[in-house]
Amino acid sequence: MSIQYFNTLTRQVEPFAPRESGRVSLYTCGPTVYNYAHIGNFRAYVFEDLLQRHLEYRGHAVTRVMNLTDVDDKTIRGCRTADVPLAEFTQPFKKAFFDDLETLRIKKAQHFPEATSANHIARMIEMIATLIERGHAYRAEDGSVYFRIASFPAYGRLAHLNLDELRPSGRVSSDEYEKENIGDFALWKAWDAADGDVVWDSPWGRGRPGWHIECSAMATGILGPQIDIHCGGEDNIFPHHESEIAQSECVTGLAFVRLWMHCKHLLVDNQKMSKSAGNFYTLRDLLDKGWTGREVRYALLSVDYREPLNFTFEGLAAARAALARFDEWSRRIDETAATGAEPLPTDLDTTAFGAALDDDLNISAALGAIFEIIRETNKRLDAGTLTPGQIRALVEWRDRVNSVLRFEPEAATISAEVQALLDERAAARAAKSWAESDRLRDAIAALGWVVKDTKDGQKLSPKA
Ligand SMILES: [Zn+2]
Repeated sequence: MSIQYFNTLTRQVEPFAPRESGRVSLYTCGPTVYNYAHIGNFRAYVFEDLLQRHLEYRGHAVTRVMNLTDVDDKTIRGCRTADVPLAEFTQPFKKAFFDDLETLRIKKAQHFPEATSANHIARMIEMIATLIERGHAYRAEDGSVYFRIASFPAYGRLAHLNLDELRPSGRVSSDEYEKENIGDFALWKAWDAADGDVVWDSPWGRGRPGWHIECSAMATGILGPQIDIHCGGEDNIFPHHESEIAQSECVTGLAFVRLWMHCKHLLVDNQKMSKSAGNFYTLRDLLDKGWTGREVRYALLSVDYREPLNFTFEGLAAARAALARFDEWSRRIDETAATGAEPLPTDLDTTAFGAALDDDLNISAALGAIFEIIRETNKRLDAGTLTPGQIRALVEWRDRVNSVLRFEPEAATISAEVQALLDERAAARAAKSWAESDRLRDAIAALGWVVKDTKDGQKLSPKA
């Protein structure tokens, strides 16, 4: 079966084929760096990671862009409150975001453009100028520039909205009196006192870009006018992605995106996550409670992306238990595998995992397929009916699965102290000083490690 994904634009599951065979361009809306990202944000980033890794598993080379929104109302408010320059305010949140991506084993994009980079600001201004020139945008009296949605009949198509619903029926609210249509959105916001020193020059006067044009400029600037896949959380569909389409297509004259994919929202204990409800979690909050990045990744990954994810601590505990089963089986096959692989018995279906993901990233079926293999092969390992060569084939399959899901245990780092003891012990064994070797094994055990002697030398594993 070929890969098929659900397209938000057509509301259908469609076969996926990139514009250029074997190469996929992927744009994913990134964080607004005014705070630490919360687990609802990370649900979207983990879903996008699964998508990218699945495409790579199927042999596509993926070029991914994830933008960082480092200028908007929230970042400006934050830097004004903290009384520091904007860049100084956002810097620690950018760093924290990258740390969090690593903790969750999310593959780094090739490009993390920042909205405030001079080249991207220049492109935004250039795009806005083109839109004005073509009648798709207009400058209001205060110097702000708005996109004229009436000039783009396809506006509303992604969100499946009726444009008439966006037309004003009565008076437009007083703070938006300069717009022709209530649905018109800002491409450029004229400076006001609340912006402080966050300001750029433009042909329309001093101000700053709107959020939507940031993404259009960075996406088309880096990936070109046409992109294979554009993702985000479902809350990005309208107005953000709808507006990205309007701006980009009115500038380039080409269809902007082939496939739009959005993941559903995250709830905590079936409630909307909010600070006031006391159920608001950043990744850091969960790590502080003793959960690992791998466990959080599992919990965020294990629900189909088109279903709302109800995050609970029971769910995290279930993730921990599932990973423990996976680890135990993993250790078992690692210990008994030969060096060369032999074909697996034909009744073990190792293709079900990939086939499930090919079907619109059906992760529940994919996990079901993995645990079915684990259950079945554990039985055969007990009965001794798998050859070491077949076990090697299982190890190789497990590693391919891990290239997509990244469920392998944290690589435990060996301290210099343990390494020194290991070296001493190797020397003792070479000199056949067995009593010294045993003493050193106990010393290593006291530091939390089990040392095993194999034909390839000493092997270390963390004490259970
Ligand atoms: Zn965006």
